Amino acid sequence: MERQMIIASTLDELRAARLLLDGRVGLVPTMGYLHEGHLSLARRAREECDSVVATIFVNPTQFGPTEDLSKYPRNLKGDLSLLESAGVDLVWTPDNETIYPPGFSTWVEVEGLTKPLEGASRPGHFRGVTTVVAKLFNAVQPQAAYFGQKDAQQAAVIRKMARDLNFPIEIVVCPTVREADGLAMSSRNSYLSPEERQAATVLSRALTAAKSAHEHGERNADTLRRIMSETLAAEPSAQMQYVSVADYDTLEELQTVMGKTLLSMAVFMGKTRLIDNFVIGE
Ligand code: AMP
Repeated sequence: MERQMIIASTLDELRAARLLLDGRVGLVPTMGYLHEGHLSLARRAREECDSVVATIFVNPTQFGPTEDLSKYPRNLKGDLSLLESAGVDLVWTPDNETIYPPGFSTWVEVEGLTKPLEGASRPGHFRGVTTVVAKLFNAVQPQAAYFGQKDAQQAAVIRKMARDLNFPIEIVVCPTVREADGLAMSSRNSYLSPEERQAATVLSRALTAAKSAHEHGERNADTLRRIMSETLAAEPSAQMQYVSVADYDTLEELQTVMGKTLLSMAVFMGKTRLIDNFVIGE
C-alpha cells in the first residue's frame, strides 16, 4: 500500500504524527533546497529504519551577522516532492517562533571540538547548530539521525553532543555526494556564477593532490597543507580561508600524519564560501 507523506508545521502536529510512527525512527535534519547529498541521507535512513522523518528549517542562529541567512535558497514545494520520492514518512517544517519562542535563552554548546576550523571562522555557528539539533532530537525522538561527511566538523560535534548529553540516538555519518567533476554538492553552489562554478572544482582538486601525495608516502602535514594551498592559489577566483590537516577525532592540527586524518578547507569563490574535506589514512 502506498503510504502518504505527512507534512507537519506546528509542534503539536509533529508530535501527533510522530506518535503514529512505528519502530526505529530515523531523522534527517536539513535546511532545505535539497540535492542528491540530502537525498542520500534520506535513502540511507529509509534502508536502515522503519520510519523516516525529515526536517526543513533554515536555522537563523547558525548564521553569523554578515552571512547569507536572508538570501539562503528555498524551494519548499520541490523539497517536499523530492522527500516523498525518497520514501520519507513525515516532514516537519517548523517556523522560527516554534524553535525560538519569545524570550528564548537556553543554548547547547560543545566545548573544545567547536574551536578550530569552522568554529574559528564562524564564531557562534556551532552553538546554533547544536542548539537546533538538540531541539530536533527532543521533538522527533528518533533512534538514529543522519548527517553528511560533507560537514565533517559538524558531524563530529553532534556525535560529541549526543554522547555528552546521553541522547539515546545513533549518529550515522554518510559519504559526501559529489557532482561528476568532483565538486561537493551544496545548496550554496546555486550562488556560483558559471565561471565560479567551473573554478570551484579547485577544492576537490586540492584535496585529491594532498591525498595522492599521502598515498605516495608523504607524512609531513605542512607539506600536505602546502600542496593544498598552492593548488588553491593557482586558481585566481579562489580565495583560501584555511586549509587543515588534522586528527580525525580531536581535529587538532598535525605535524606528522599518522592514522585517520581529516584534510579540510574553506574557500571563497567570489562571495560564496565553500567547504570540503577528504578523510585519509583509514
Ligand atoms: P544542510 O541543509 O546544508 O544543513 O545539510 C543537511 C545535511 O545534509 C547535513 O547533515 C549535511 O552534512 C548533509 N549534506 C549536505 N551536502 C551533502 C553532500 N554533498 N553529501 C552528503 N551529505 C550532505
